Order: sequence, then C-alpha cells, then structure tokens
Amino acid sequence: MKKIIALVLAAMLVCTSAVMFTSCGAEEGKKELHMATNAFFEPYEYYDGDKVVGIDAEIAEAICEKLGYELVIDDMDFDSIITAVTSGKADFGMAGMTVTDERLESVDFTDSYTTATQVIIVPEENSKVKGIDDLESASIGVQLGTTGDIYVSDEYEKSGAKIERFNKGADAVLALTQGKVDAVVIDNEPAKAFVAQNDGIKILDDPFADEDYAICVAKDSELTEQINTALSELKEDGTVKKIIDKYIGD
Ligand code: GLN
Repeated sequence: MKKIIALVLAAMLVCTSAVMFTSCGAEEGKKELHMATNAFFEPYEYYDGDKVVGIDAEIAEAICEKLGYELVIDDMDFDSIITAVTSGKADFGMAGMTVTDERLESVDFTDSYTTATQVIIVPEENSKVKGIDDLESASIGVQLGTTGDIYVSDEYEKSGAKIERFNKGADAVLALTQGKVDAVVIDNEPAKAFVAQNDGIKILDDPFADEDYAICVAKDSELTEQINTALSELKEDGTVKKIIDKYIGD
C-alpha cells in the first residue's frame, strides 16, 4: 500500500512539474504522426460521430502506438492525399489506397496490409449495365483520382462511355440512385456498405482488377522501414486480421 501511495505521489510530482511546461495529459509531449485520408470510405475510414474509425484508422493507431507516436487523422479529398504526403503536410497517407505504378512515381508504399477488387454497382432493376462489357457505352460514376476512375477512363472513355467524377464515393452512389449515371465503379467493401445503406442498388457478380492496399509515405522516408517493421509485427501477432475481421467479418 505504502509503495502505491509513494508511486502515486511520485507521479503527481512529475505531473506538477510537467504542468509548468505542458498540461500533463497522458499523450502530451508525444510526437505526432499525421495521417492523410478521405473519411468517407467505410469500412476503411468513416465518421462515427466526430471520430474517424475503421480498418485503416485502427491499423494506423496500432502502428503509431508501436512507434511511440500519437496519431492525428487529417480528413481531405482522396485526390489531395498524395500531395499532402509529398509536401510534408502529412506524414503518411492511408485511405484504402491501392499501390499503382503511377503513384509510385511520386510516393513510396509500405508493404501491403490487405487486398481488394473493383466492383460495379448498378440499379437493382432494369439496369442498362448487366456486365463489364456494357460499361463501354454507359455513363459511369467514379470517385475522382481513384483506381476506379483510372480504369474506366483508360478502358471505356475512348469507346464512348461517359465518366462522371465525384469527390466522394457517396456522391457517385447518390447519382446512381437518382438515375443520373448507369453504374458506379468502386472498391468492393465500400460498395457493400453503400448497397447496405441505399435501397434499389446491387453489386454485379463480376469483380475486376485485384488490388493491394498499402500506406503511402514520402519518397525515401525512414518512416517506410519503421512502418513496415511495425506492420509485420502486427500481422504476425494477429492484430491486423483481428481489426479487419471486426469490420468485415469472414
Ligand atoms: N482503392 C482506390 C484507390 O486507391 C480507392 C480508394 C479510395 O477511394 N479511398 O484509388
């Protein structure tokens, strides 16, 4: 008991002296790592009240904890994340972000932490788009600057598809429910969340484009190695799987 009292007193003393410099909050004085994301991408990052939660938010939190940093999440348009990282405004980008050769020209990526596919969302009834081939002449909603945008722009824009680009996936889905586009091409898990939240739309069976999600970091940053070490430990001890299962299930 005496020992505990002594410890408490010692802790109070440290706090009192620290108060002169900081407010002695538990995390006070800890260095921050800023994560750039677009928090409208359930289940990877989305708002629960005013807090950003999701697979990426929790994996990032676990990485920061291992590295001794406090995680700060900066929400922005998806299209701005890479610039935030290359300009040093953010330390890393994590946003269900797919590793692509084009992105690798401006940033480095850590090891991948999960995989995904692109899928097509269409109206449940009387859909003009019944399979991938129908995209050629369809109007397609995508999220600006995403791999969905890149694929349909490369593959179908020349053949006559009309690409409508939105800042948020949710806005593309809204356009679909309003009949303003024929289909939306987006990552599979957010697609499932959108279909669950909106009546009258479904995901077509044929997914395309297998992708690896990873964290982007400024070129030649020491952080890549540090994050990779933390990530491999978190994969090995089952934390990454536990977080993914919590949001997606089997
Ligand atoms: N995985 C896609 C990409 O990297 C979409 C990511 C997103 O919209 N957050 O482009």
